[in-house]
Amino acid sequence: MTAADDYDVAVIGGGVTGCATALHLARGGMRAVVVERRGLCMEASGVNAGSLCLQIKPLALMPYALGAMEMWRTTGKWLGNEVGFQAKGSLMLAFSDDDAELLETRIGERRRAGAPIEILGPDAARRLEPALSRRPVLASHCPIDGFADPTQIGHAYGAALAEAGVDTRLGLAVDAIDRDGGAFTVAMGEDRLRARRIVLAGGVWLGEMARWFGLDLPVLCRPYQLLISERVPRLFDMFIGLASARLSLKQLSGGGVLIGGGWEGIGDHKRGSIGVLPAPLVGNLRLAHHAISAIAGLRLIRTWVGLEVEFADARPVIGALPGVEGVFINGGTRSGFTMAPYMGRLLAERMLGREAELPLFNPARLLRNDPPGKEQGPDSASGRPPVH
Ligand SMILES: Cc1cc2nc3c(=O)[nH]c(=O)nc-3n(C[C@H](O)[C@H](O)[C@H](O)COP(=O)(O)OP(=O)(O)OC[C@H]3O[C@@H](n4cnc5c(N)ncnc54)[C@H](O)[C@@H]3O)c2cc1C
Repeated sequence: MTAADDYDVAVIGGGVTGCATALHLARGGMRAVVVERRGLCMEASGVNAGSLCLQIKPLALMPYALGAMEMWRTTGKWLGNEVGFQAKGSLMLAFSDDDAELLETRIGERRRAGAPIEILGPDAARRLEPALSRRPVLASHCPIDGFADPTQIGHAYGAALAEAGVDTRLGLAVDAIDRDGGAFTVAMGEDRLRARRIVLAGGVWLGEMARWFGLDLPVLCRPYQLLISERVPRLFDMFIGLASARLSLKQLSGGGVLIGGGWEGIGDHKRGSIGVLPAPLVGNLRLAHHAISAIAGLRLIRTWVGLEVEFADARPVIGALPGVEGVFINGGTRSGFTMAPYMGRLLAERMLGREAELPLFNPARLLRNDPPGKEQGPDSASGRPPVH
């Protein structure tokens, strides 16, 4: 190892969470390196649906989500323009009176928490989105929602990290981290580097990473599947979701209709993404067609599965790893593509010794081997299924 291998901080995992954290740390003055076993944003961060939707955020995370949406609105300033960001608005639909009641309750809570969402009757909703089917009895509209392009995000972060002076070690899997005096030695096969601080940002592999420090952090892995149609002329503009079922539906700028919403395929952190299951795929398509009938007859051109991390209480882990000074963790935020810029900045502020805007989420609450001290973050509001 040379002085060039000596860092203030090594971020392990180059998804959106790791990239955003490293970027803010470097801009705060730390010499940072990101170690990633594949390329930047090639796992969940590069294969997700790209939805940026306040309407589906857990209530307790609303202050964080509002911060994240503001960062997306200004993404050209701090990350770059090449991320396909579009704020086309979102509509959540209710197809029955029960759904409508649920939607009104949920939206009322989110409005009180500061989200700019309004309830609309079906005619008003159709005036905003003429392709809407005749089935909705009520809708809610958020004009600042939208989407970005996950296939561009790795390149955008790569350029921003390089400009901020962050080194990236790609194609290298970390297999051990040892404390060595006041610093850590990070082992990647035969390669080594040293860092005074470590950030674990490994998505569904956070459990393995915590074990490097003798900690047992139970991680849930959700193998969500997505599908995309052939490219067709514009059918609809907005992000479409449902009050009480799993749907995320949007037409990308290239013309493909992207459909998902948290339907599970096959895959896990050991085997990776294995494949799509046909029954959920059909259910997902039916819901999409129920909302926008014009998608009937489109040819499906690709389906895939990505691995999403989740914790038992549906809250993230963001903060210092208990009992291991100098080691931090960041991950498990629902809708992590949307939230990563803000959650990365939040952890970076704390590590840089500044006051973080909002409380972090102490991992101690989830560890199975008796961590010292427990500090609670905000409560999770909903056990609702995730809809991206
Ligand atoms: C199908 C799907 C659709 C989704 N849709 C949306 C959406 O529309 N909107 C939204 O906001 N969110 C969405 N999400 C959630 C979002 O994609 C994730 O929350 C987010 O990308 C997680 O980012 P991450 O950086 O924490 O994890 P990841 O992107 O998984 O990154 C972790 C990285 O760690 C690396 N790594 C692991 N082990 C090692 C090691 N030993 N050494 C080095 N590197 C290692 C991995 O290679 C990986 O690149 C979706 C998720 C999925 C799966």
